[in-house]
Amino acid sequence: MRAVVFEDYQSFPTLKDVERPVPGPGEVLLKVAGAGACHSDVAIFRDFTAGAPGAQKPPFILGHENSGWIEELGPGVEGLTVGDAFLVYGPIGCQHCRACSRGQDTYCENAATQPYAGIGLGRDGGMAEYLRVPARNLVPLGDADPVAAASLADAGLTPYHAIKLALPHLAGGGRYALVIGLGGLGLLGVQILRALTGATVIATDLKEEAMAEAERLGAVTVPGGEGQVERIREVTGGRGVDAAFDFVGAGPTIRTAMAATARQGRCTVVGIAGHPYEWSFFTAPYEAELTSTYWGTIEELYELVDMFRAGQVTPQYTTYPMDRALEAYRALVAGEVSGRAVVVPHA
Ligand code: NAD
Ligand code: ZN
Repeated sequence: MRAVVFEDYQSFPTLKDVERPVPGPGEVLLKVAGAGACHSDVAIFRDFTAGAPGAQKPPFILGHENSGWIEELGPGVEGLTVGDAFLVYGPIGCQHCRACSRGQDTYCENAATQPYAGIGLGRDGGMAEYLRVPARNLVPLGDADPVAAASLADAGLTPYHAIKLALPHLAGGGRYALVIGLGGLGLLGVQILRALTGATVIATDLKEEAMAEAERLGAVTVPGGEGQVERIREVTGGRGVDAAFDFVGAGPTIRTAMAATARQGRCTVVGIAGHPYEWSFFTAPYEAELTSTYWGTIEELYELVDMFRAGQVTPQYTTYPMDRALEAYRALVAGEVSGRAVVVPHA
């Protein structure tokens, strides 16, 4: 089968022929419906070096945001039906620590001794015709379109988790949320905020087109550049936003997010640009929380699928057939993707 393989650090992935996987005990083989190209993949193949925090050891097939139809059940798997559609919860922890037990493999207490972080993260992912996954990581889609749903697995789940944790700040009237970075994650973040809260959503991106899309989704947009923080504060009547979400995570965006946050607000950094931010008693808003989140729980993915089925979130995406899968990554690196690029191997 064809697959997009991450072969070495700091080198562009390749499209090549590999063995079709065989599901092991407790696993299923999925015929891949959609595999989203996430900006974190760019960090994996372009930025990370061996041993760097977050680095995953090559080679493996990329794709940690996947959906598909069951093709084959591995030994011991019962109660699932060949042909049914599922979303894949990507993180895989030890399965027996406190975090994994509550369905939050992302914070596995034994992560340091695990062979991989998840599907498409050290273990073969879904940028391929077929994908081998533990049955436990499947979230049923019922009759929902698995291609349209694919990006929920990461671009949806990650903002959903970050926003849910910030809900106490956004409950009540006259609340404001800020979203920085309106790509795969950010545009879904805007929709999730609109569906879960009554807050006014303020959004910003370097790209006009992304801002226009956010406006269409009900956000108020504020352009970047000089005076941006003042303009955001103006929208909030001077008080600042109750919750900020930075889907870029660069030094300047974290500074903007924190400077725009109200006293007692919450600022969540989700983007992994990884730049430092200098916190100071005199510049940080009093009692403002500055935090980070990583992906989400399997239970939250069930909740997000419910929202999708109810029409409360609609991922924006462009599909690429398998033979153009590398173009999806080239477009992502060049900043030319709107919403998500989703590889559809069986188009
Ligand atoms: P993307 O490329 O689809 O979108 C990024 C958007 O940010 C683009 O629209 C771009 O124009 C905009 N942008 C870039 N620099 C900006 C700036 N200085 N100011 C305003 N906007 C700016 O990326 P994505 O797949 O949505 O991922 C977003 C970030 O989140 C990446 O860093 C990714 O690695 C990270 N991520 C984190 C997690 C997590 O669990 N924490 C999960 C998935 C992705
Ligand atoms: Zn990702």
